[in-house]
Amino acid sequence: MIRAAVAAAGSADPRDVPVGAVVFGPDGRELARAANAREALGDPTAHAEVLALRAAARAFGDGWRLEGATLAVTLEPCTMCAGALVLARVGKVVFGAWEPKTGAVGSLWDVVRDRRLNHRPQVRGGVLEAECVALLEDFFHRQR
Ligand SMILES: [Zn+2]
Repeated sequence: MIRAAVAAAGSADPRDVPVGAVVFGPDGRELARAANAREALGDPTAHAEVLALRAAARAFGDGWRLEGATLAVTLEPCTMCAGALVLARVGKVVFGAWEPKTGAVGSLWDVVRDRRLNHRPQVRGGVLEAECVALLEDFFHRQR
């Protein structure tokens, strides 16, 4: 699943930080994939996870719920995306690189496993971490 997210990151606009996200249904079928598109769309909320969740909700389920779905993303989600995952009722979150500066799935905050919430997805972080970190490092090296 993270390999699919890495492939999705590859479709990012060259100006955008390459982060990719893919949503899989309960049967493992791919529902949607997206890359970060903040620069391309001029939209501060156009993170890969949000775009993939929106597209997946159109493809699956009863309107907006993604119960039993898995979201795979190359980088630990931020607070906005972690909140969106919970609201979408995603069952599992898998991510590649940890993001100690803004991560909200265990690093800086742990939004998805807050006991005060009534829906808490399962989490697995650090999957294919080296590959996901390399994606970002290549991008930032090219920026300099
Ligand atoms: Zn985000």
